[in-house]
Amino acid sequence: MNYGKMMNMDLKQGETPLIIAGPCSIESEPQILATARALARIPEVKMLRGGIWKPRTRPDAFEGRGEEGLVWLREAKQESGLPTITEVATPNHVELALHYGVDALWIGARTVVNPFSVQQLADALKGVDVPVFIKNPVSPDLRLWVGAFERFRKAGLKRLSAIHRGFSYYKESPYRNFPLWEIPIELTRQLGVPLITDVSHICGNRELLLPTAQKALDLATDGLMIECHINPDEALTDGKQQITPVQLNDLIGSLIFRSKQSSGVARDLAELRGEIDDIDGELLQLLARRMEVSAQIGEYKKQNNVTVVQMDRWKKILADHIETGNDLGLPSELITEVFEAIHQASVERQSRIMENG
Ligand code: PEP
Ligand code: MN
Repeated sequence: MNYGKMMNMDLKQGETPLIIAGPCSIESEPQILATARALARIPEVKMLRGGIWKPRTRPDAFEGRGEEGLVWLREAKQESGLPTITEVATPNHVELALHYGVDALWIGARTVVNPFSVQQLADALKGVDVPVFIKNPVSPDLRLWVGAFERFRKAGLKRLSAIHRGFSYYKESPYRNFPLWEIPIELTRQLGVPLITDVSHICGNRELLLPTAQKALDLATDGLMIECHINPDEALTDGKQQITPVQLNDLIGSLIFRSKQSSGVARDLAELRGEIDDIDGELLQLLARRMEVSAQIGEYKKQNNVTVVQMDRWKKILADHIETGNDLGLPSELITEVFEAIHQASVERQSRIMENG
């Protein structure tokens, strides 16, 4: 058994990224053994994943091998020396997974949406010192995700990490689950937990894996989860997004791992950060001035019985700003989001002026 790899299982922020790889589902003994053996030859891979119970959209789909899969996962762990992780969704799953020596557990996105289920799992794990990785809920709901951490913390679990697997989202996008990077960043700001990026479920295809993994690393993720199958085209679940161990090795070789510690470049960085802080200060001053003028306009509208929202004027402002911003090299999406937020705040301020007196 490779204890070097075992010891790396506990994630700490700031270390080299933890790479968790393995099939979406454990399908057969040869499948998981062959995959695990190949993954054990990739030094960066530190943990073997495999789904034993699969939450499926439709009832007739493959729902995982259950208990016999745990026997194969235990064998794969013994052969490869890789610690293992699987998804648990019920107290019975917890009991079985621990019984068969699974080293770490993850809570799936469809489970995290349900506080009853999360509480049952937290209760089942009370007093058990096992690393638990909590995926984001399917919906972009930061509070629900934080709530799941709180339930496990209250149950006394200390080795908690987050897995970002993207969100169901109303906008058209090339992703299977839209990343909304700001949500996991805010989660780690609030909770200080290590963050793993599950690029496979974000992307839903193989082509986007590399740029998405690079982006996650650039944003200082603590690790990656990547679905890996010895024969992805034959996979019983998530075939389109899985890659072979050889492809995973190439992908890892193409990634640029950046330092989170900025000591070597500290002076330049400090200067640039100072510049950013100054600019932010100016932006805040400007915003405050803009709100002040907006309040004066609100008074005028009230005196003259003019509605707060002037749709034609707002459309023109936005179109003009997008054009000017584009000329300055700013993307339309950023300008739209920023000015929508500013306009919204302005409308709220003016509405309050109308209401008061
Ligand atoms: C999985 O990891 O295979 C899985 C089912 O993930 P999620 O809960 O993110 O959909
Ligand atoms: Mn999957």
